[in-house]
Amino acid sequence: MIYSLPHKVMIQEVGPRDGLQIEAKILSLSEKLELIESLMDAGLREIEVGSFVNPRAVPQMADSEDLIRLLPDRPGVNYRALWLNDKGLARAIGSGRIAVDGKLQITASNAFTLRNFKKTLDEAVTAMPEWISMYQEAGIKTWALGVQAAFGCNFEGDVRPADVVALIARVELLMNESGNQLKHLRLADTMGWANPIQVKRLVGLVRERWPNLKIRLHLHDTRGLAIANALAGMELGVDEFDAAIGGLGGCPFAGNPGSAGNICTEDLVFLCNEIGVETGIDLDKLITSAALAERLVERPLPGKLAKSRGLQHMRH
Ligand code: ZN
Repeated sequence: MIYSLPHKVMIQEVGPRDGLQIEAKILSLSEKLELIESLMDAGLREIEVGSFVNPRAVPQMADSEDLIRLLPDRPGVNYRALWLNDKGLARAIGSGRIAVDGKLQITASNAFTLRNFKKTLDEAVTAMPEWISMYQEAGIKTWALGVQAAFGCNFEGDVRPADVVALIARVELLMNESGNQLKHLRLADTMGWANPIQVKRLVGLVRERWPNLKIRLHLHDTRGLAIANALAGMELGVDEFDAAIGGLGGCPFAGNPGSAGNICTEDLVFLCNEIGVETGIDLDKLITSAALAERLVERPLPGKLAKSRGLQHMRH
């Protein structure tokens, strides 16, 4: 199956949430606002700004409600957040400022699901109808699925593409049974296991089975392959990505302290610029945001472009 590069990609900025959540330094509200405003100035339109989870478990996100209240109204900008249970969903809806989608989350690893959610993967799938009715009660259609550890897991090892497809099919069936339709799939390389060939294998299998499904890749650069993996996805037509400014984030799971974080937004935008894929994002302004992020977290960030800048100034 041959796809050409997309004409344009949508990049969702996840730095203020997935990126910041593991940072030792807790940013103040005004620091977070400054970062988010600078990301919007660079042209980012989808920004994950916080999470409605237990503040004791994730202290960096404890002020999500206050932050969201202070966010400016910018036309065309959607603020996104994470929730993991009914209380979190209620808080997201209650904030009145978050674009709330009927999204389901599953982790393609039994070991990880047992460890983090105290249930088997089977039990997690069986619990999906509860999520769907929770959304239904809030008047929200369930149409999106996020698969964590879709390429491998520190606790389980390799994850087979065929198993991920089977898992998606099980969840889709549950969605259909309640009158909902799967329209959006987010494949996450949560712990940095993916390689470009594997990305093509999984995305290819998904494309074959669900030709109209919108696919987003959530990549981590834990082992340095995130940019290569993004390109592999784009070569199969993937046109949505999550990324974090400066490459913020790390590996929040045991075993890899100090490792690189999410795929770096400015490095991804640079790649797109160089291969002729539009992003709608201003690379120079983004590099300014990366410098700001580095200053705010008070540690060097792994992104490359903020140190070397793009090629647009070098060409004549
Ligand atoms: Zn992540």
